[in-house]
Amino acid sequence: MKRIVFKVGSSVLTDTKSIAKQRMLNLVSLIVEARKKYEVILVSSGAVSAGYTAVQLNRSVPTSKKVLASVGQPILMSSYKNKFDIYDVPISQILLTEEDFDSRVHTQIFQDIIERTLRNDILPIVNENDISTTPDQLFGDNDQLSAHITYHTGADLLVVLSDIDGYYDSNPRDNPEAKIKKIVTKIEKEELEQEHTPNSQFATGGIVTKLKAAQFLMDTNQKMFLCSGYDLTTAYEFIMDGIHNKGTLFTKN
Ligand code: ADP
Repeated sequence: MKRIVFKVGSSVLTDTKSIAKQRMLNLVSLIVEARKKYEVILVSSGAVSAGYTAVQLNRSVPTSKKVLASVGQPILMSSYKNKFDIYDVPISQILLTEEDFDSRVHTQIFQDIIERTLRNDILPIVNENDISTTPDQLFGDNDQLSAHITYHTGADLLVVLSDIDGYYDSNPRDNPEAKIKKIVTKIEKEELEQEHTPNSQFATGGIVTKLKAAQFLMDTNQKMFLCSGYDLTTAYEFIMDGIHNKGTLFTKN
C-alpha cells in the first residue's frame, strides 16, 4: 500500500477567534477517504494559533509563544478527536523536534512508533514539540518537518495544504498577473534564497520553506504536491483520481 503525508498550515485550521471547524471537518473527511487507498500520516500546525484563541499572550515573546503552544496543542488535538470520532478513526499525537532526526538511533525510535501506529490503523498526527526545546533543536516550521517525515517513513508523496493554491512565478498577493506553475522539476538557488513571506501572523514558513521542503524531497526522489487547504477538491482529485487540475507538483522526473 502506498503512503501519503499531509501537512496542514495554521491559517487553514484557525480563524482569529477559534478553530476553523468546518475547514477542519473537510480535512478530516479528506483524510478518511484517503485512508481507504493509502496509509496516511498527518503533520498539523496550529498549536500556537489555537492557544491564542483561548489566551491572548504576546507570541513574539518566546516563552509566551511556548505557553501558547502548550495551551493550544490539547485544543487542537481534542478538536481533531471529536471529528475523527465521527468516523471511528483512532488518532495519536506524536511531537518531534529536529533532535529526533539527528542520529540513526533517534530516527529509528520515531520510525518504529509511526510504523506500529499505522499497522494498528491509527492515524498519527505529528507536530513540532516546541515547548521544552531550544531554538536550534527546532525545525521552526512544519514544512521542513513534514519533508523529513516523508523521507524517513518512505512515503510516496507529501501533500502540503496551504493558504495558497500552488507555487506561482511571483507572489500572487503582490502580483495579480502571477501564473501558477503546474509542474516544477528544478528549483533555482535564488528561489530558495528569497525573502520569507508567510501570509498570516501565525504562519512561520512562507513559500521559501515549502520550496526547501520540495527541494529536499526532489533530492530523495520523492514528490511534493502543494495545493489549497481551503478548497480540498484539488487534493482529492489528485490523490484519489490521479487528476492534476490545479496545484503544483514538485517532482524530479
Ligand atoms: P501556510 O500557512 O499554508 O504554511 P504561508 O503563509 O506560510 O502558508 O505561505 C504561503 C504564502 O506564501 C502565500 O499565501 C503567499 O502569500 C506567499 N508567497 C510568496 N511568494 C509566493 C509564490 N511565488 N507562490 C505562492 N505563494 C507565495
